[in-house]
Amino acid sequence: MSAVEIAALMQKKAFDECELSPGVQAGVTAMFGAPLTAAQVVERIVTDVRAGGDGKLLYYTNLIDKAGLSVQNIRVSKAEFAEARQSADAEVVEAIERAIANVRRFHEEQLPKTWLTNRECGAMLGQKVTPVDSVGIYVPGGTAAYPSSVIMNAVPATVAGVPRIVMAVPPGRDGKVNPYVLVTAELIGIREIYKMGGAQAIAALAFGTETVPKVEKITGPGNIFVTLAKKAVYGHCDIDMLAGPSEILIIADDGADPKYLAADLLSQAEHDPLASAILVTDSELLGNAVAAELEMQLAALPRQEIAALSLANHGKIIIASDMETVIEMANISAPEHLEVMTKEPFALLPYLRNAGAIFLGAYSPEPLGDYYAGPNHILPTGGTARFYSVLNVETFMKKTSIIAYTQGALTAVGSDVIKMAEAEGLQAHANAIRVRMEKR
Ligand code: NAD
Repeated sequence: MSAVEIAALMQKKAFDECELSPGVQAGVTAMFGAPLTAAQVVERIVTDVRAGGDGKLLYYTNLIDKAGLSVQNIRVSKAEFAEARQSADAEVVEAIERAIANVRRFHEEQLPKTWLTNRECGAMLGQKVTPVDSVGIYVPGGTAAYPSSVIMNAVPATVAGVPRIVMAVPPGRDGKVNPYVLVTAELIGIREIYKMGGAQAIAALAFGTETVPKVEKITGPGNIFVTLAKKAVYGHCDIDMLAGPSEILIIADDGADPKYLAADLLSQAEHDPLASAILVTDSELLGNAVAAELEMQLAALPRQEIAALSLANHGKIIIASDMETVIEMANISAPEHLEVMTKEPFALLPYLRNAGAIFLGAYSPEPLGDYYAGPNHILPTGGTARFYSVLNVETFMKKTSIIAYTQGALTAVGSDVIKMAEAEGLQAHANAIRVRMEKR
């Protein structure tokens, strides 16, 4: 199979090219009075919130999420935190605490350092690492609640030392936020939380409103409206990445257990009808066994309808001629999650170039990374792992160069700099060096 054929088979549409499902399209038409595309909806909401501040933010929050909120209660109150603490199951909270500790420990190892170095000539050069002043973390909340996304967004931001961390999470129809989302945020030390979702939340964070502060960077996953809004505000603030529906690619040989493979494929398929779950193997026998297992396990899933749609539209079992082709498919696909279920998974690691996260061996299933192991679960999707990295501590930091020359060091190299400046026709640049080299 050629690289072009592999690419056609594996690659998914970019977000801008995705069509809304008939149900969502009907909702859009009802709300906006016209059958707009997702990009048009986002453009309208972002423009409105930028110009209209709190008024428009609340208008869209109450129109789309039917939350019945006002300026007085759009921010999560102390009483709401207390209520969440009281209603949360203690054992779940303990598990969340252990997950936070694992994620913190992992991300502390990523902390980049400020450094200075001396050059022989007397110059001192270096790099200063500084957290961004403020960040808005988006925690999705439309069809499910994601305390794990609070952890994965907020812990690296705190490790980076971001002074102001603001969180946006869509409210339910009762105007409230899931209690585990609030408890998790509080455990990490995040107390500035706004009940807002979708494009209106991203616009509020990017431009600020009377109530919501403008931030320097927005991070976190979300649906098509969130992602297109992040794209629209990029440049007014920074963003982490453009992440789409979840995906898993498993590469396996005949030593893999079909039961494990089917369970892992379904763990992604249950996320979203747009999620993709693909197995690539050089064993036809294994491929057939996984297909049979999928049918059995799917029948017992509570989110069977979503998983079945995902498998039907974006699920595949591909039998490749050999392991080299299997590896090439993984690299071209650049999946969000890549599981390696072969007899010697570590042997393949050097050949795997493109993936958000790699899970090696039969006992490293993807949900372990989703919740608990320590590495981040906010990952590039849709083939963008070719050029984006997983969310990490550096996402929340920036680097500034430091240059400190002595008079002697500058005099030693000044004529080179003058020659280069004059070659570019920039006389004032040359003069800035020359005036320092003249004897007084
Ligand atoms: P979401 O918070 O991303 O989106 C909900 C918001 O979308 C609502 O608040 C609403 O304002 C807006 N919206 C919904 N319908 C709209 C419409 N018709 N017009 C305009 N705006 C509309 O939550 P979600 O929808 O549940 O999506 C979450 C996504 O994030 C899923 O795809 C999930 O798989 C993904 N996710 C990814 C990760 C990761 O780390 N990669 C983690 C968790 C979730």
